[in-house]
Parts: sequence; C-alpha cells; structure tokens
Amino acid sequence: MKKKKWMSLLATGFVAFTLAACGNNDAAATDGDVYVIGTDTTFAPFEFENDEGEFVGIDLDLLDAIAKDQGFEYELRSLGFNAAVTALEANQVDGVIAGMSINEEREKKYDFSDPYYESTVGVAVKPDSGIAAIEDLSGKQVVVKTGTTGAEYAESVKDEYGFELKYVEDSATMYQDVLTGNSAAAFEDYPVIQYEIARGMELTVIHESPEGSNYGFATMKGKQTDLVEKFNAGLKNLRDSGDYDKIIDTYLGE
Ligand code: GLN
Repeated sequence: MKKKKWMSLLATGFVAFTLAACGNNDAAATDGDVYVIGTDTTFAPFEFENDEGEFVGIDLDLLDAIAKDQGFEYELRSLGFNAAVTALEANQVDGVIAGMSINEEREKKYDFSDPYYESTVGVAVKPDSGIAAIEDLSGKQVVVKTGTTGAEYAESVKDEYGFELKYVEDSATMYQDVLTGNSAAAFEDYPVIQYEIARGMELTVIHESPEGSNYGFATMKGKQTDLVEKFNAGLKNLRDSGDYDKIIDTYLGE
C-alpha cells in the first residue's frame, strides 16, 4: 500500500480512491514511494509528545535514521497500538513501529525486523495503595491496554491471582485510571512505566513478568520483505556507527 508521493498532494476525496486503487501494491519500493508507518500515541520513551509539543521517541528516531541511511521516505501515523496493528492488517499502513514485542503468535502473522530493544511487563500501583505484591490484587480491577503483551500477561495470571481486567486503548488513559484510584494496577511495559515514574508519575512497580520480549518493526507476513531488509540493514549500520546508542542515550541516558 505504499503511496506515491504525489498522492499526498491530492485532495482528500481523491486519496480514498487512489488508496483503494493501489491497495494490492506490494511491489518493491521504487523512487518516489513513501511508506506509511503506524505507531502508538503515548508510549514514552518510544513515541510521545515532549514538552515542546513535538512527537519524539526512540522508535521515531530509529525509524528516521534508518530511512535516511537506506534512502526511503515514510509518512508517520500516530494511531494507538491496537489501531496501528489493525491498520497493518487492513493494508492501510505498510509497517508498525510501536515498541511492538516479537512473540511466537505474532510471528505467524507478521514479519518482524531484527530486535532493537528488550522489555518485560511491569505491574504499577499507587505507592500509598497498600498493594505490595501481585497477590494483593485479589478481588481488584486492573487496567490493561487492548492487544498488548501487557494485556496478554495479565490475562494469563488473572485467574491465579483473582483480579478483573479493564481494557483501554492508550497508555495515558491506563495510567490515569490507576492514579484516580479507579483501577488498582496497570500492566505496562517495564521501561515505559519506569520512564514515566522517573519523570514524576506517582506510581511504583510491584511486580515484573518473569519472561521478557524484544521489540521489532512489523510488517504483514511476506508483503514487505524489502522494507524489513532495509530496516535491518539500517539498524545494523546504526549499531555499527554508534548512532543506535546515541538515540537510546538521548532518552535513557543518566
Ligand atoms: N510491547 C507491547 C506489545 O507489543 C506494548 C506495545 C505498546 O503498547 N505500544 O504489545
């Protein structure tokens, strides 16, 4: 579904038509092609709006550096995690970069790039909530983000610990639900919740999932092999040049 550059210039009414017209385009990128990449809304430090109102983060800096290194253009769509994955499956975006964990189930449907960051799931509560361990969540409601590995982990242990799940679409809403005391805990990727806590959010992590996963850039299986190859080649170059470390340091240094 790569859009030709000129399509962006067309009036909206025409865009719908042209998008439909090239809905089956999975040919290799040629000059002038623009990949459409879906991402999350609030998922700091991977993608988020900074104090200056700019949309920044590790995922976006990596994508940008890789695109420059590999000579391709892209258009970013900040959709939310589940919406980005849905858009990928509907062929409305060519790829997703959203701190998306590589796992066996997803690998059946998507082609992932090489891993670029490792994560676990953390369980965050209000420090004054009296909840000190995952066992204390018995009989309580916890909040998760639809379609994520955090939700999946919560689903896998909910009967064991006896808590109920509430689903929301974005991380900001999830944090808010715990801060207001509506839900007792949020299940969020560990580096993401730690980043929020370091920036002053009044939450504390009381539990970490035993198993971790790696983040990868995702495309539909077999549809964008050349884009995945470019991503991997660019990622390797960034690692070799030290630029990968610089990007990580920009957000997680100190
Ligand atoms: N890493 C998690 C997943 O892949 C969460 C991603 C996200 O919320 N952006 O499901």
